[in-house]
Amino acid sequence: MIRRNTALHSILHLKCPYCHEGAFFVSHPYDLSRAGDIHDKCPECGGRFNIEPGFYYGAMYVSYAIGVAACVTVWVASLVLAPDLPLRVLIMLIAGTMLLGGPLFYALSKIIWAHLFLRKGSERH
Ligand SMILES: [Zn+2]
Repeated sequence: MIRRNTALHSILHLKCPYCHEGAFFVSHPYDLSRAGDIHDKCPECGGRFNIEPGFYYGAMYVSYAIGVAACVTVWVASLVLAPDLPLRVLIMLIAGTMLLGGPLFYALSKIIWAHLFLRKGSERH
């Protein structure tokens, strides 16, 4: 079990990097009309999430790493569980994982990026 008030718990529950209590995103990652929209400030502690224009462009690097990790995981799982799987099925499995997991990967990349640079004691308001 992951302890509360840790960065990992906060990332997995999409919570504020400052207080680990307030919601980071405006809505659920699979609410596609608002996917990736974040609050300007934490509803609990008031910590700023948008510290400068373009701050979250760097989350693309995290998103790339998550995407590669997901693809490699599906590929290795297919080698272990179904070694005779045709290549076209494997490609469809990986594409399906990226398509279905895309909104979650996007949300995770933004919140991981925020947790790398926004923390308790840093500039908040
Ligand atoms: Zn907060």
